[in-house]
Amino acid sequence: MSNIQLDHLRQEMDQMNKELLKLISKRADIAKEIGDIKEKQGVPKFDPVRENKMLEQLVSLNEGPFDDGTVRHLFKQIFKASLDLQSAEHKKHLLVSRKKKAEDTVIELQDGTIIGGSESVLIAGPCSVESYEQVREVGAALKASGVPVLRGGAFKPRTSPYDFQGLGVEGLEIMKKVGSEFGLTTISEIVDPRHIEIAADYIDIIQIGARNMHNFELLKEAGESNLPVLLKRGLSATMEEFLHAAEYIVSRGNTQVMLIERGIRTYEKWTRNTLDISAVPIIKQESHLPVLVDVTHSAGRKDILLPCAKAALAAGADGVMVEVHPDPPTALSDSQQQLDIPQFEDFFKELKASGLYKSTVN
Ligand code: PEP
Ligand code: MN
Repeated sequence: MSNIQLDHLRQEMDQMNKELLKLISKRADIAKEIGDIKEKQGVPKFDPVRENKMLEQLVSLNEGPFDDGTVRHLFKQIFKASLDLQSAEHKKHLLVSRKKKAEDTVIELQDGTIIGGSESVLIAGPCSVESYEQVREVGAALKASGVPVLRGGAFKPRTSPYDFQGLGVEGLEIMKKVGSEFGLTTISEIVDPRHIEIAADYIDIIQIGARNMHNFELLKEAGESNLPVLLKRGLSATMEEFLHAAEYIVSRGNTQVMLIERGIRTYEKWTRNTLDISAVPIIKQESHLPVLVDVTHSAGRKDILLPCAKAALAAGADGVMVEVHPDPPTALSDSQQQLDIPQFEDFFKELKASGLYKSTVN
């Protein structure tokens, strides 16, 4: 074959590449239009029956030289690329996504504490509110250490119905009393949509727990609240599901949402849950909302809380949550994993000493 012939064939191939590109781009535009229509109709983008029909039709027209399997493979790639394009377009529309809003959401708490800004935040307190004295002891320790946010569960979603279920509204009253006594911002989990409205009478931040991340009625109600919301990642939720849960709240008008990774369920038994540290940079990349890490419920053990907290901050987390109880062995819930007050003080001191906890005050 002469070089002239080869050049000619190559030119012809270049021309075909251009035509193919034009065609697949045109096809992608049509796929996007179809995606928009399906979006409005609320029907799934992926339609396996239709995809199969198209493949069968193409195979029936195939005259070679590619075999049927290759034709199928090539077109499947094109179909998949179009579907990915439709999903990317859809993602772009989420209010919680960076594509929608590039700058970080910064939440200012009632005491002036900023979450999602240039400083780290620590949220600490008992798993459950058990008594005024118990919460007060923790509140005093937080105040002395300069921790701004006190946590404490009043409604406890327990695995067993026979376990301590929390003090309910009485627990919220205790949170309010201790919070105002020490000037601490308070956070407590709400499990019932009917309690979202009254929450504002007692607490400063609503927590939505891992077990309720998929409770859409609760999410919608939290979206109507004026209080900031700390949304925990579900036990087996993907990051995409996590962001969609946040979207339920933000799309109802409440833009003050913080996300918290709290470990996901895996086959591993040496930790209570597996801390998915990769979720921190990925969610920060995908969303403008602040991201925190609950080291206590991830690990379920005390001995690795400090390295987990350091890892969280090094990965870009805006803050850390940790459970603290005056006398963990007697705690009515999560007694294994809560730090006592001296352990908590050491934890916070070492976290600050690591240089990873960003703070202008010591
Ligand atoms: C909690 O933080 O009190 C709690 C119950 O955690 P989770 O919802 O992550 O299990
Ligand atoms: Mn707990």
